Amino acid sequence: MGRAYLTIDDGPSEITDKILDYLFGIGITPILFFVGTQVELNYSQAINAVKRGAVIGNHSYSHADFNKLTESECIVEIEKQEIILEKLYHDAGAERTYKIFRFPYGHRGGANEARLQEFLYYKKFNRKIQYKWYIEGGYSYAMDVYWTFDFREYLLKTEKDFTLDTIKDSINASTDPVANGLLLPNTYNIVLMHDFVTTNQVLEDYYKILIEYTRKNGVEYIKPCFLTRNHVPISC
Ligand SMILES: [Zn+2]
Repeated sequence: MGRAYLTIDDGPSEITDKILDYLFGIGITPILFFVGTQVELNYSQAINAVKRGAVIGNHSYSHADFNKLTESECIVEIEKQEIILEKLYHDAGAERTYKIFRFPYGHRGGANEARLQEFLYYKKFNRKIQYKWYIEGGYSYAMDVYWTFDFREYLLKTEKDFTLDTIKDSINASTDPVANGLLLPNTYNIVLMHDFVTTNQVLEDYYKILIEYTRKNGVEYIKPCFLTRNHVPISC
């Protein structure tokens, strides 16, 4: 059985509560990488997410493309969102256990990549997700949280030929030991999904359909107790 953390990017949105009703209802604790402008638009959904025990990560203030920004513009994007998340945890009356960051689009800043990694290190972001493929891919230095499997379900609303079957095919094809395949036994994955009202308009309850499909195929979603050594999660 493959094990996975579920990460959901780009929220909160108007359907975050509904997504969390479903996930917590079946015992899945997600990691939500929030965007600052979305937190401002959907503050009560953001507060509820914290109160319910979802782990909230920093996904920048405006979801800018870090490969097109200057170093200082990137830092403003991260810092501005840090202030919002600190206030969010304070307003929700919850302790912020993990300080984690994911680059929008997975773009690590181009020419500024090394300096941004230093910045994340200096600012004491957690680097506790350590996978074999991270290390072998030369990412052992990485302070940000990447992913091992992307549903790419956001393409349902833009690509005519991209359907639910396309996603199912990519799940079934995720059996590559080098890429830490989702359906391989004894693997640990970071699964990426998105929090979009527009996707839900195209395929209602898409999050439920995709989670159910992967679970049916043997994926076990585990609590976010971040890995520390030998790729084995610490119990929590
Ligand atoms: Zn994103």
